[in-house]
Amino acid sequence: MKPSKWQILKSFFHTRNYTERAALEAHQQKQLDRLLTNHNSRFYPHSAKLQDYPVINKRIFMQHFADINAYGISEKDALSVALKAEESRDFSPVFQTTSGKEITVGLSSGTSGNRGIFLVSPEESALWAGYMLKRMLPRPYLARHSIAFFLRANSNLYTAVKSPLIRFEFYDLLEALDAHIPRLNAQKPTILIAPAQVLQQLAQHPDLAIHPKKIISVAEVLEPQVKTRIEQRFGTPVHQIYQCTEGFLAHTCAHGNLHLNEDMVYIEKDWIDRESGRFAPIITDFNRKSQPVIRYRLDDVLIANDAPCPCGSAFARISAIEGRCDDILDARTANGEPYALYADFIRRAMISDDLIQEYRVEQHGKALHIFLTPDTEQTRAAATRNLDRLWQTLQLRPFNYIFQPEQTRPLHQKRRRVTKISPYGENP
Ligand SMILES: [Zn+2]
Repeated sequence: MKPSKWQILKSFFHTRNYTERAALEAHQQKQLDRLLTNHNSRFYPHSAKLQDYPVINKRIFMQHFADINAYGISEKDALSVALKAEESRDFSPVFQTTSGKEITVGLSSGTSGNRGIFLVSPEESALWAGYMLKRMLPRPYLARHSIAFFLRANSNLYTAVKSPLIRFEFYDLLEALDAHIPRLNAQKPTILIAPAQVLQQLAQHPDLAIHPKKIISVAEVLEPQVKTRIEQRFGTPVHQIYQCTEGFLAHTCAHGNLHLNEDMVYIEKDWIDRESGRFAPIITDFNRKSQPVIRYRLDDVLIANDAPCPCGSAFARISAIEGRCDDILDARTANGEPYALYADFIRRAMISDDLIQEYRVEQHGKALHIFLTPDTEQTRAAATRNLDRLWQTLQLRPFNYIFQPEQTRPLHQKRRRVTKISPYGENP
């Protein structure tokens, strides 16, 4: 059972913009009331007050999988359905409930073995698709659009968006990029959607001859210098979608600024550092009924931005999605106090030298493993110089550097440029 086009259209036309904060807050309150008094989950309390609900994370969400979802589907059953579909590359993992409803099972491409599983009904897919289209389709809406979408695995969620006006082609990230070029050139997409690193590789590909009107970066942190490179190649701004399995959380407006989708998701801020505006979002999705997402803390670092946007939207702005909480390195001040070193500092240190085209930095205790492209004496010296300067500026204890050659990484592997493998104290 596919989500109906009628439902997608309905969601498309119901999705509106808010220019008044008060109107948005009234909408949110109504949606919260509806969600909290109607959810069908055994895990969550039955209270109309959001504050009565525990703040949970992915670990708790997965531990209570069967009690959280409205159908009592076990994690094991859901996983086996999803894995079977992924192996056969038949992208329609569906679970039949006892009442005959077909629930799509999706896997999140989580790192280090903590994959999430999500359940979505056809109605929820339709709602999501309509909302996504409204937020991302360039105007005029009724023009013909041809979308090229790079994904790790297809799912019913995405193929739902198919109509006479919208052509939709799926490109599998598990295949090599070269193999996709002829098909892309033949499709001539007007909209190109892919993870940042794939957009970057496409931008550098000599045989690519497409001229998309809109480019949308998904699934990974889009770094400013990468954004510029892609924009220069295609001559059009790069937009962003912040979408994870837990929900569609933010999109860029016509002015290229990121706004939280506050009409879809209620977002509480768990402050990491109020001064710099860094927070982890605690999300409550108004529309997920198969598997309610209520007060779910994401392991992501967002940077709040209080400046009003010229687009006039009442949706809160964020200046950036900085990465996962794991991407915050654990440093020490000169006096030995713990110091949270944001990935952004490392990034700036690395890109301040033009010779360094690509980099990856892993913290292993007191050592930083550094992977440079190109990996030469000059780039190593530049990285050393810039990092040394960073410790001095911030008055931190220096790390040891271990330079290693970078290996080719498959496209479907999420790129994390700065990661903490083990914290400061836990390493020889
Ligand atoms: Zn805006």
